[in-house]
Amino acid sequence: MKTTKKIVCNIGLLIVFSICYNSIIGFLFVLLVIIGFLVWTSYSIQSSIYCDAICKLNTDKKKIALSFDDGPDATHTNEVLDILKEYNIKSYFFLIGEKVKQNPAIATRIRQEGHLIGNHSYFHKGTFPLQSTNNIFKELEQCNTIIEETTGEKCTLFRPPFGVTNPMIGKAIKRMQSKQKFDVIGWDVRSFDTTTDDIDKTIHKIIKQLKPGSIVLLHDRLSTTPALLRRLIPQIQEMGYELGI
Ligand SMILES: [Zn+2]
Repeated sequence: MKTTKKIVCNIGLLIVFSICYNSIIGFLFVLLVIIGFLVWTSYSIQSSIYCDAICKLNTDKKKIALSFDDGPDATHTNEVLDILKEYNIKSYFFLIGEKVKQNPAIATRIRQEGHLIGNHSYFHKGTFPLQSTNNIFKELEQCNTIIEETTGEKCTLFRPPFGVTNPMIGKAIKRMQSKQKFDVIGWDVRSFDTTTDDIDKTIHKIIKQLKPGSIVLLHDRLSTTPALLRRLIPQIQEMGYELGI
């Protein structure tokens, strides 16, 4: 949040500078900076400008958390759970409501094995961020309802689809928070595992960003995730990190 405030101040100074010099180039430059800033705040969950997101564990110890988005997946989530069980690691799973309805036994297994379940919208459509506050709120409620009906536990965590936040999403989150605990969980290590099948590349990307308290973003719907975990977990442990939540 401090970084965001500094950036807002810098943009303000640029605007003043531009007006003072009455320069079209200066004005266009400021306009570009503002557009860039708006894109950054929407796509960076860490900007925390539309909602406060927890992007790190509250620890200075060498502990990190793995988080998995877009499940429960009928093909790959069970294998991911098997591996986590083998290493006795608890993680975050941000579930899509529609998939919970399709795969209730997997959602139940995630809960029974001690992982934390979060809301990741009901449909996870590309148009999610473009909807009205009302519709976003309804979708968040719908996802919470199916998670609660399936696992028997109230869902108090949320991760926005694509990590995108904007004023409508921010207002819908606040409306949820006025009714119940509803913490927004982001990440500080983005693996970009959806963009490549090259496991080495993804592992390298994760390892070089790891810090005490890091939350790593992964996807349990990917066919590469089980193989990635089998190599990533021992490497992280060899670096002296504990994995958990
Ligand atoms: Zn997602």
